[in-house]
Amino acid sequence: MKTPASGTAAKPSQPTTRAQTPADTPSTTAAGTRGVPPNEGTAGAPAAFDVDEVLRRIEAAVQPFPKAALFELAQEGFDSAFEQLMACIVSIRTRDETTLVAARRLFALARTPAAVAALEVRALDEAIADSTYHEAKAWQMHAIARTVVEEHGGELPCDEAVLLGFRGVGPKCANLVLGIACGQPRIGVDIHVHRITNRWGYVHARTPELSLAVLQRELPRRWWVDINRLLVPFGKHVCTPALPRCSTCPVRDLCARVGVTKHR
Ligand code: SF4
Repeated sequence: MKTPASGTAAKPSQPTTRAQTPADTPSTTAAGTRGVPPNEGTAGAPAAFDVDEVLRRIEAAVQPFPKAALFELAQEGFDSAFEQLMACIVSIRTRDETTLVAARRLFALARTPAAVAALEVRALDEAIADSTYHEAKAWQMHAIARTVVEEHGGELPCDEAVLLGFRGVGPKCANLVLGIACGQPRIGVDIHVHRITNRWGYVHARTPELSLAVLQRELPRRWWVDINRLLVPFGKHVCTPALPRCSTCPVRDLCARVGVTKHR
């Protein structure tokens, strides 16, 4: 099994957590606890940023909301590496609600590499027609299915190099597949995970790829797979891209709200 550290390597001079900035050098514990400056709008002493506490609160807060699409599909039984990869490709630049419908429609037709490879590309395209860039995705997915049949004995291996070798598959999808379907400790950093961890002040990084490098270094492994499961619904319903709901947010007292100029 590959370890997460074998993915994107962090360089010392690269993005940092808030704890590592020159102006702010609090201690970091094994549990991921670190200090941050006083939060705007809170009276009194600096709040201690405890990522375990933050994610526990968010776990409770997202209970009423629909699950992130890949986790929902896994719970419905579409939990093989191949099914998760197909669904992740469908999900690219596509809303979760649309992804769920399209993926279920595809899996009603075909769930294995051999079955997808046997489909006409046109049939595959029709199944995922609501997804953004569906035609290009249909060709990509069909090519992946054929490769898995021809080169991997019909079963997609839980292997990062194999996944990243497919056209259109990047670190986000590879890590979600390896984390959800393969049981490996992996962090799926999508735009929600990137935005929210930076707003907390836990990560300072310009891109999701750079945030991944920081999180691999700082986030306790027990949260590696679940951080995506938690922050996707949290990012859609609470810490939204525009006008986050800070006034009712369950982690307001712990969040530095970096870059947040307006909120609800
Ligand atoms: S909603 Fe506001 S307080 Fe809550 S995590 Fe997002 S930026 Fe921080």
